Amino acid sequence: MKKIAVYCLFTLLGISDFLPLNSQFIAPTLKKFSRQDTLRGSITPERVWWDLKYYHLDIVVKPSDSTIFGSNTIIYKALKDFRVMQIDLQEPLEIFKAEQNGKQLSFTREGNVFWVHLAEEQEPGKIYSVIVSYGGKPKVSARPPWEGGITWKKDKNNLPFVASSCQGDGASLWWPCKDHMYDEPDSMLISVNVPSNLTDVSNGRLRSVIKNKNKTKTYNWFVANPINNYGVNINIGDYIHFSEVFKGEKGDLDCNYYVLRDNLDAAKAQFKQVPMMLSAFEHWFGPYPFYEDGYKLVEAPYLGMEHQSSVTYGNGFRNGYLGRDLSGSGWGNKFDFIIIHESGHEWFANSITSEDVADLWVHESFINYSENLFVEYHYGKDAGREYVLGSRRNIRNDKPVTGIYGVNFTGSGDMYYKGGSMLHTIRQIINDDEKWRSILRGLNKEFYHQVVSGSQIENYMSNKCGLNLKPIFDQYLRDVRIPVFEYIINEGKLTFRWSNCVQGFNMPLKIFVSGVEKYIKPTPQFSTIELETVNPVIVTDPNYYAASINLTGK
Ligand SMILES: [Zn+2]
Repeated sequence: MKKIAVYCLFTLLGISDFLPLNSQFIAPTLKKFSRQDTLRGSITPERVWWDLKYYHLDIVVKPSDSTIFGSNTIIYKALKDFRVMQIDLQEPLEIFKAEQNGKQLSFTREGNVFWVHLAEEQEPGKIYSVIVSYGGKPKVSARPPWEGGITWKKDKNNLPFVASSCQGDGASLWWPCKDHMYDEPDSMLISVNVPSNLTDVSNGRLRSVIKNKNKTKTYNWFVANPINNYGVNINIGDYIHFSEVFKGEKGDLDCNYYVLRDNLDAAKAQFKQVPMMLSAFEHWFGPYPFYEDGYKLVEAPYLGMEHQSSVTYGNGFRNGYLGRDLSGSGWGNKFDFIIIHESGHEWFANSITSEDVADLWVHESFINYSENLFVEYHYGKDAGREYVLGSRRNIRNDKPVTGIYGVNFTGSGDMYYKGGSMLHTIRQIINDDEKWRSILRGLNKEFYHQVVSGSQIENYMSNKCGLNLKPIFDQYLRDVRIPVFEYIINEGKLTFRWSNCVQGFNMPLKIFVSGVEKYIKPTPQFSTIELETVNPVIVTDPNYYAASINLTGK
């Protein structure tokens, strides 16, 4: 175990998933959480005593009756002698058997949690394994990927097209595991048995394909890196495969593409954006974080998801987000939203993973911002700026970006656009593009393959830029108000302050005084500076996400 992590419900549709349209938002503080929420979202005593090392998920997936049966071998290091283990598996799936060293273990069920009672002493520092056998008909996703579950579809040739997606709802929707982001196995083997006319594509590298006598094949995929629970996936279909090698910062990176047979030509054209994505993100963020596992883009029967080293794709082989430019700037039609956004999560979500979904901004704010960085890398700084400013039309300012800790509860969908705008604003404050890039790359080095809290990211950025950014993070992540720059011009003097802001909000600001740029340091208290211009026109730099008002009404 190294890490802890969460997800990507990208964009508008994703947001409306946890906040149904036409309904009042519930203030998070008023929401009542259940014991199940706490068991799902916190590091319980039955979780904390064991450190995940390895999973072998070994399953039979049957499209003919929509079932999954199999086992998960869980290898862990005991951190102390504790005899109850929490294993998560959601209804209606059942655990049939749990065993350790060949001996059956007793267990009880409490909703989506199984309490497995260990018979032998768990010696601290020692490695143990538990094998859990399970199965049934997993929940069918009504609206993948925003509602977790399995999607059982048919392709145009009437062949099964099946995929898992479980961000938010949790991996325990379809397999038994420690379903909390704080702990990840160091590696994982995923064995998936499917009808022999179909292919399974999961995470990592394909180690072997075993032909069985009963007209099935077993695909063995090995992940050599720590992996998020929700990143683990199955994709089963009549896939055709093509590949290329990207010459990256760490050498040769295998890029493998799996699409339905009929879509080969469309995919070969559209997936040319993969090397463009890799060039841009390696420039800004550093090397792709999973060279050992390769990069895959896999067609799925839903829009897409950042499954680690097997990013899933269902954007119809066209640019934009299902053909739309979410920024309204025109630049969003220059790239395939799903290829860029979901792959960006390999850096922020899969390599750097947030411990609690309350800090999901660590995934989504950086990756919303990465869209702008992609545009900037290929089309110039002005284009990137236009993209991020255009994206502000999607900000709601409905509730804080951060959610509630310990109960699997995310904050506002503003974690995307507002978070991206916050990072763009911080970049203006730093006002040094190379330093900014070194911070983005530094984050990926410092927290490589780690599970983090949001405050670790905040502190790192403050330390590296030499400014206390806490009031800025407080303002944009933990408050819904947009700071207002209030000013008065009087006899060649400019009097100004921040209002509508958190206590101590002292964000430096760039303004233009009759077209001449000037850096000032407003605080919540009024201060006055002399201007050299008579009857100046004051304009704030629109790159800062803030409002402004001339208090004299002029
Ligand atoms: Zn995302």
